[in-house]
Formats: sequence, structure tokens, C-alpha cells
Amino acid sequence: MGERITGHTLLIGLLATPIRHSLSPKMHNESFAKLGLDYAYLAFEVGNEELEGAVQGIRSLGLRGANISMPNKQAIIPYLDELTPAAKLIGAVNTVINKDGLGYLVGDVTDGTGAMQALRDEEVDVRDQTITITGAGGAATAIAIQAALDGAKEFHLFNRKDALFANVVETAEKINQHTKATAIVYDLADQESFKEAVQKSSIYVDATGVGMKPLENLSLINDAELIHEDLVVFDVVYSPRETKLLTFAKEHGAKKTINGLGMMLHQGAESFKQFTGEDMPVDYIRELLF
Ligand code: NAD
Repeated sequence: MGERITGHTLLIGLLATPIRHSLSPKMHNESFAKLGLDYAYLAFEVGNEELEGAVQGIRSLGLRGANISMPNKQAIIPYLDELTPAAKLIGAVNTVINKDGLGYLVGDVTDGTGAMQALRDEEVDVRDQTITITGAGGAATAIAIQAALDGAKEFHLFNRKDALFANVVETAEKINQHTKATAIVYDLADQESFKEAVQKSSIYVDATGVGMKPLENLSLINDAELIHEDLVVFDVVYSPRETKLLTFAKEHGAKKTINGLGMMLHQGAESFKQFTGEDMPVDYIRELLF
């Protein structure tokens, strides 16, 4: 890649910590190389404390944009000039665009739209569907709100009563107030309601990260009565490729099981389009990295 970097090369950043494990730099740099685009993408180990200075750095150095990951997705909002309607509603940013390098920074979020594209790739349409989601963090919020904006009908949102529970209450309020869908919130400890909700849903999304290291031996569904032949089970985790939940759902006759790779790929592809104006070569990248 060094051979193609010149004095004209435009830089895209990734601001997060920890971040060295991320697939995003490879995904974007391989795409630039494949399409012959004069950009480079670098990860910067940036947490909340360094964030304001880093955002000013985007302006001062004329980066064309950046991806934002944990713990900065919400913390970055006060430092930006504008948010897209989706970022405003979801309350998080994973993509910052510095249009023409002039320093006016617009924050967008592509996690939800990326997840919807991943579902469409598997011929899953959220319109008019009843969806149960576990999780109250950035991933769950983006998926729930985007699915509501895309026409899902009814949401059953579950989380354990931890510090993030207030988030899921807020997400339900946003869905009920700003979209045509309805959302109800439950404590995940209420396992009877959880069972009922999954049984009447056509899509179950686990957006908690349970199933990923160090929780790879856990699944939030262990009762075969929850799994039915009309149920699509979507786990946002992509490492391992098949979580305990997905194995269990497959074994007990779920209609489809989907891991988080497609969401990861498409959230990146949508950022890439905004950074460069070009379509990411997603089939090439899927083959190369996944
Ligand atoms: P977060 O920490 O903000 O939220 C995690 C949620 O899971 C919280 O609501 C928490 O209450 C719940 N939770 C955690 N442990 C639990 C347990 N043992 N039992 C029940 N609930 C539990 O995280 P986030 O940023 O929303 O990310 C969640 C997961 O989604 C992570 O694994 C992340 O890697 C993944 N993710 C994937 C993609 C993708 O593109 N595939 C994108 C974003 C996030």
C-alpha cells in the first residue's frame, strides 16, 4: 500500500479504543486499492479524553472523514456541526464526513442501515414484522430504530436491569413517538414475557454481544420452545461466526440464522460510499476478509 501513497492521498480515520483488532482499516484500504482511489484509512487509539482534540484534528488536517467506534459514538456528538436525522434519532454517530475537507463535520450512523442491508441480503424484510430484540447499547438502538423507520410493526425490547436499561426505555419512547411502530420494554429477568414475545415474533435479534468472548459459552435462549419455523435469528456477533445462540436456533428448526458479518460489512460499505462517493466492492471484500 505504501507505493500508492502520495502527497495527494486523502486520509480517513477511525477513532476508538481499543481498536487495533478492527477489520475496518483492512476493509477500507483493500477497497481503495481495488478501485484505484487515492485514499488511506488509519486507526487512531482515541478515547473520550482525547476526542475533542482529535475532532479538531480532523478539521485542521483536512481528513475527509472518520469512523467512530466505542467509547466515542455518543461522546462525539457535541463536537460536530450537524447530525443526519437517523443519527439524531438514534443518538449515536459511527461516520463523520468532512465535506470537501472544509471543516464542517456531519455525523451519521450506518449501523442500523447496515444491519437492514444484511437482513435484505438474506431475503429478510422487516416491513410489518414483529421483532424481539435483546440489548440496549449502540447496536440494539441502531437496529431497533432503523427497523422501525423501515416499517417494522411491533417491537418487544428486553434488557437486564443494568445501567443501560434507561436507554432501552428511551428507544421505545422514540419508536412510539417518531415512527408508526409500537414498542414495549421488559426486564430480561421476566422470562415468561421473553418466551411469549419470541414465540410471536418473526425476527429475534440478539444485540448484546453475549456469545462473543469471554461469553462464548452463553446464549440468552436455551429453551427450544422459543424457536419456531417462522423465526429468523440474527446475532450481531461475528466472532465466532456461529455463536451458541445460532447453533441452538439452527438445531431447533429456526427459519434462518444470520451472524454479524453482513452488518459489519454493510455499515462499512455505507460509510465508504459517503467518504468516496463510490460503492465498496462488497463481494470482493467479503471474499477477502470474511
Ligand atoms: P454495549 O456495551 O453498549 O451494550 C451491550 C448490551 O448487552 C447492554 O444492553 C447490556 O445490558 C447487554 N448485556 C451485556 N452482557 C449481558 C449478559 N450477560 N446478559 C444479558 N445482557 C447483557 O455494546 P454495543 O456497542 O451495543 O455492542 C453490542 C455487541 O454488538 C458487541 O458484541 C459488538 O461487538 C456488536 N456489534 C456488532 C456490529 C456489527 O457490525 N456486526 C456493530 C456494532 C456492534
